Amino acid sequence: MSRFFDGKLSSLVAYTPGEQPKNVRQLIKLNTNESPFPPSPKVFEALTREKIEELRLYPAIGITPLQEATAKFYGIRPEQVFTANGSDEALAFCFHGLCPNGAVFADLTYGFYPVFCDMFRIPMHIIPLREDFSLAIEDYAGRKETVFIANPNAPTGMYLNLDTIRALLEQDRDRLVVVDEAYVDFGGESAVSLIGEYDNLLVIQTFSKSRQLAGGRLGLAMACQELIDDLNKLKFSFNPYSVNNLTLLEGAAAMEDVEYFDACRNAIIETRARTTSALRERGFIIPESMANFIWANPVRISGKEYYEKLREKGILVRYFSGERTKQHVRITIGSEEQMQRLVAATDEIFAEV
Ligand code: PMP
Repeated sequence: MSRFFDGKLSSLVAYTPGEQPKNVRQLIKLNTNESPFPPSPKVFEALTREKIEELRLYPAIGITPLQEATAKFYGIRPEQVFTANGSDEALAFCFHGLCPNGAVFADLTYGFYPVFCDMFRIPMHIIPLREDFSLAIEDYAGRKETVFIANPNAPTGMYLNLDTIRALLEQDRDRLVVVDEAYVDFGGESAVSLIGEYDNLLVIQTFSKSRQLAGGRLGLAMACQELIDDLNKLKFSFNPYSVNNLTLLEGAAAMEDVEYFDACRNAIIETRARTTSALRERGFIIPESMANFIWANPVRISGKEYYEKLREKGILVRYFSGERTKQHVRITIGSEEQMQRLVAATDEIFAEV
């Protein structure tokens, strides 16, 4: 730490992203929930020489084709769509500006939430998931803090249906609920359909998983217009141009290509089902996942040992060392072939122990 670093931030423990190894082509990379598929062909078409020349200009301000395409997809108004540099940035604005009474979230959920609280000095209240990793909304009744729910949750993949989200919103209509839907497109139903009814709901989505643009850095928030205006006020007080010209084009193209989006997510859903049953046949305990990853307990060996042995075989999955997580690994669903190789590697590992 330099002598210039603000002492008030000295205890900040930064978020640790999943490893991004250099020799990625030699590895089967199943550790950060990226898509195994390339972006939509429409994204390639959108990136013309002419558009690249336009990089000399600042990105457009006001309603963009991306907001229009998103509004059309969800049947909302473009003014109800906020764009950010990845959903991490959208979440940062929510923690910074929309938590007047602090934030409340689960003990096992997206690891960035407590980091944002430290960064912006937001008081946080943590509610443990139940023994079986389920989230019981009764545990949130009476809490006044802004609620953050990843749905489906990470790293478990477990999902709350819309009736449950509705019941959470009804608990207190003066309390904001932020539903982080990074993984909702792999079998879940988006709560965006409820934003017309609930002005205490804010939905966050990302283009990093189901739309194959993790490197493009694009996230959305959708809510009633007042909340979106608040987010824009925060953005325009920090970095108005946080989403670059090319990413705005890529996002619009990806949003418009519904056919490709459906084909990719359906492929992941099918491969997830096959991988889950193959691993369960080998004794794994895996809760039903609605995400593009599974939360797998190998049972016969520890999560750490399984992670390390897979790594020796060139397969990278995510291991979290905490007390409640150490028996598990989180495995991103890759292509069918990648997952067959994971299952074959698992057989080899189990034959050795
Ligand atoms: N929310 C959840 C639950 C996530 O797992 C992630 C990805 N690490 C994000 C948000 C952030 O995704 P991005 O910033 O790439 O949009």
